[in-house]
Amino acid sequence: MSLPRLRLESCLLKDGLWLIDTKQAHHLVKVRRCYNGSLVEGLLDGEKLELRLICDGESVRAEELSRKPETPSGVEIHLLLAVLKNDQFDDALRFAAETGVSFIHLLACERSVPVFEAQKSEEKLNRWRRILDESTKQAGSTRPPVISAPIELSKFDFTPLPKHRYAALLSDAAKPLREMDFSDGAAVAIGPEGDWAPHEAQTLLDNGFAPVSLGRRILRASTAVAVACGWISNTR
Ligand code: SAH
Repeated sequence: MSLPRLRLESCLLKDGLWLIDTKQAHHLVKVRRCYNGSLVEGLLDGEKLELRLICDGESVRAEELSRKPETPSGVEIHLLLAVLKNDQFDDALRFAAETGVSFIHLLACERSVPVFEAQKSEEKLNRWRRILDESTKQAGSTRPPVISAPIELSKFDFTPLPKHRYAALLSDAAKPLREMDFSDGAAVAIGPEGDWAPHEAQTLLDNGFAPVSLGRRILRASTAVAVACGWISNTR
C-alpha cells in the first residue's frame, strides 16, 4: 500500500525536522489517521522523502529517513489547453497533473466560455497552481506541471514546443492519436467547450500541428485532456 503523501514546499525545515503546515497536519492526522511514528511520503521538487511523523499534541513534525530522486517519467508533454468553465477546467487541470503533463499553456480562445480578466490573472493562476499541487499528492509525483497565463493563439510563441505536435480536432482529416509518434516529447492541443474557431484550428495546422482524433465520440474538453494525455504518457 502507498504511504500518505504531503508536499514539503509549505513545511519548514528546522533543526533537522520538518514542521508540517497546519492544513496538511490536520489532513494527515484527522483524515488519514496518522499518529506518532507513522511513515509518510514527502514530495519535493524532483525528490521523494520517506518521513516518520512526530505528533506531540501541539505540532506535527517529521523526521527524514531517506530521500531519492524521482525516476523520470518518459515523454515530456506540453498541453495547450483552452480556458474552460470552472468545474470542467478544474477537472482538466487535475487530469493533466495526474497523467504527468510537464507544461500547461493556457489559451484564451474565441469560444472559451469564461472571459479571462488580466487584472485577476495572478489570483486565478495561484488557485490553479494549488489544484495542480494537490493533484501531485494524489499521483505521487514530485513536480506539478508548470502553468502559464492564458494567451490568444495568434500571439502564442510556438518555438519552445517539441517537434511532435497534435491538435485534437473534430474533423474527418484527423488521424487516430494512437498512430502518432511521441518520442522526444509531444505537444497536444485541446479546444474549448464551443470547439476551436476555424481560424484557431488553422493557426495550429500552420504551426506544425497534425489533426488527431480521440475516437468517434465527442468528448467534453476535460475528458479529452484525460484521454489524450493519459495515452501519450503511457506510450513509454
Ligand atoms: N461543443 C462541441 C465539442 C467541443 S469538444 C460540439 O458539440 O461539437 C471540446 C474539445 O475537445 C474539442 O475542441 C477537441 O479539441 C476535443 N475533442 C473532444 N472530442 C474529440 C474527439 N473525438 N476527437 C478529437 N478531439 C476531440
